[in-house]
Amino acid sequence: MRVIAIDGPAGSGKSTVARRLAERLGTAYLDTGAMYRAVALAALRRGIDPGDAEPVARMAPNLEIVVEPGRVEVDGVDATIEIRGPEVTRAVSEVAANAVVRTELVRRQREWVAERGGAVVEGRDIGSVVFPDAELRAYLHARADVRASRRHQEVSDTAYEAVAADLDRRDTHDSEREADPLTCAEGAVVVDTSDRGVDDIVDELLDHLAPAP
Ligand code: C5P
Repeated sequence: MRVIAIDGPAGSGKSTVARRLAERLGTAYLDTGAMYRAVALAALRRGIDPGDAEPVARMAPNLEIVVEPGRVEVDGVDATIEIRGPEVTRAVSEVAANAVVRTELVRRQREWVAERGGAVVEGRDIGSVVFPDAELRAYLHARADVRASRRHQEVSDTAYEAVAADLDRRDTHDSEREADPLTCAEGAVVVDTSDRGVDDIVDELLDHLAPAP
């Protein structure tokens, strides 16, 4: 089973690179951030404070989450657009710091990939925790101004300063939490994506892979 782990902070280009890499390899692509966003949305919908560890932990194992290319469902309802909204983005880091949530989602991520016989998987802890034996582990990063500009282009109705501040807050939270913080896995290929094109980066990553059998 071929597994490729792509980690990095928000706006580092993970999703774009991971999606293109999966296309070029003809394998599945899993965005694990969408799963954490799905749990955050479910908490908000139920009126649960995302930082309230116990009720969030009780809810997570019973949630139905479907992640497919271009579509995310939570409890049977399409949530593709909603999980990218500002409320979920504000709440998600707190939910992701919940150790029970992480254990549950890591189990589901491994199952998702096994069912498809391999995948390119992107997140924060993929090379360090979820698939430490992945054939390739990559850590993508970029300058803070570049990351904020990329996110600002996606949410153009929000002021640049607000986007940059939110990114900074989320990075700090994700890197400093106790449970599986964002880290560069040992032996990971580190790529600065600030001034490079997607295919150039994908070519570099492909160079690290053995040809498919
Ligand atoms: O990748 P994305 O920005 O959509 O991820 C949303 C949030 O989900 C991150 O800020 C982080 O708190 C959490 N996350 C995580 N572990 C992962 C993927 C995402 O903690 N593997």
